[in-house]
Amino acid sequence: MIATMKKIYATDILLANGWARNKTLTIKNGVISNIEDGLQNGAETMFGAVIPAMVNCHSHAFQRAFAGFSEHSSGTNDSFWTWRNTMYSFLKQLTCDDAEVIATQLYIEMLKMGYSRVAEFHYLHHDIDGEFHETPSQMATSIFSAAQNTGIGLTILPVLYSYSGFGAQTPNAGQARFIHNVEQFNQLVTDCFDLSKKVKNSNVGIAPHSLRAVDKQGLKQAVAHVRALDNNAPIHIHIAEQQKEVEDCLAHYGQRPVEWLLDNIDVDQHWCLVHATHINEQERQGISKANAVAGICPTTEANLGDGIFPTQEFLAEGGVLAIGSDSHISVNPIEELRLLEYAQRLIKQQRAVLSNKQTPSTGLNLWQQAAKGGAQATSSNLGELAVGKQADLLVLNPEVTRLFANAQEYLLDSVIFASQTTPIKDVMVNGQWQVINGTHTLEQKAAADFVDLLKRLS
Ligand SMILES: [Zn+2]
Repeated sequence: MIATMKKIYATDILLANGWARNKTLTIKNGVISNIEDGLQNGAETMFGAVIPAMVNCHSHAFQRAFAGFSEHSSGTNDSFWTWRNTMYSFLKQLTCDDAEVIATQLYIEMLKMGYSRVAEFHYLHHDIDGEFHETPSQMATSIFSAAQNTGIGLTILPVLYSYSGFGAQTPNAGQARFIHNVEQFNQLVTDCFDLSKKVKNSNVGIAPHSLRAVDKQGLKQAVAHVRALDNNAPIHIHIAEQQKEVEDCLAHYGQRPVEWLLDNIDVDQHWCLVHATHINEQERQGISKANAVAGICPTTEANLGDGIFPTQEFLAEGGVLAIGSDSHISVNPIEELRLLEYAQRLIKQQRAVLSNKQTPSTGLNLWQQAAKGGAQATSSNLGELAVGKQADLLVLNPEVTRLFANAQEYLLDSVIFASQTTPIKDVMVNGQWQVINGTHTLEQKAAADFVDLLKRLS
């Protein structure tokens, strides 16, 4: 491999140990190899503050195409479950090519908004009629292609989905495209590891869909298989998004979902519990003790009427969180973090809830915690700017940031709470610029293809 090297100089930069001034970063083969004081020879000057890029810990890419079609009332008692039925009928039409068109558009949007890596919780596996594709990993290949073409980092998490409810209930027609037995699933995981070898800046984990969609034996077999392939592979699961899920779990196992998971499975720092919304105090402490990541998707959880994760208490006891855009009703980490904080303020009737003594700036604390947690949730070498870390970083537009912040210590508060436009100007992923001056080279073609697809589907 020919070594690639570049140097960038920033007057304001958020390093692992806090804000710094006048630093030159040397980036070798996508990794920060040196940080020096002052403007060094050959360094390109960044016009704007530099911060670590964000990781999106939870995505179902195909749902981006459905985001605008899900806000009409069905007439009575709209809920997560009625939304899910509409989503099932929408996805019936999608081919592998369609999935790539949607993911390409989505991943460009993510990059432009400051996400440099996405964990794709990938469960749309089979053909329109529910039959396996000739090559069962064909849908996964569409996701890999979209990531490779757009330049976003990818953690693909093939989803094990076997049943429609607790007690191994037979899947319904709307779920036909998701279903595997565990042997078929483990083969898909192996295939994804092979595909990943050919796609730069990608890795593979697994996602048992939820405790309602997998049984204990299947869950254990899937975990054992991926652990044999990669001991650090991330494992994500939807866990307690809805009260009904908790009630069904209690009726079947006699335990709540997180309680059961922690008691029956060896949950560690490579696990990400997505939407651990409905948990009691013991479950919350159990997640933080296990060092597992809580994957929170504030805009989707608000949009679907899920509930509010006990974020303040979880962070206070050392819990690790990451953010995801999930259904992609929003594709903007700034909006996710703002809502994460505001939900806490509204229920607690307090301010600056998700700050702490060491980091009194709420915006700074949220950005740093979510970036590091996202890196942990994807087993990737990201989340902060330090020697040895992958160079995934953002340059903020000074025309936007100067309006509301006159000092480094207020900058991320202004970005998250005060700005009305995104300040994300340039985005570097693994040492390569993917967005320059707010523009991605493929954005026009991707948007045109996406619009054509929506015309056909609606
Ligand atoms: Zn989800």
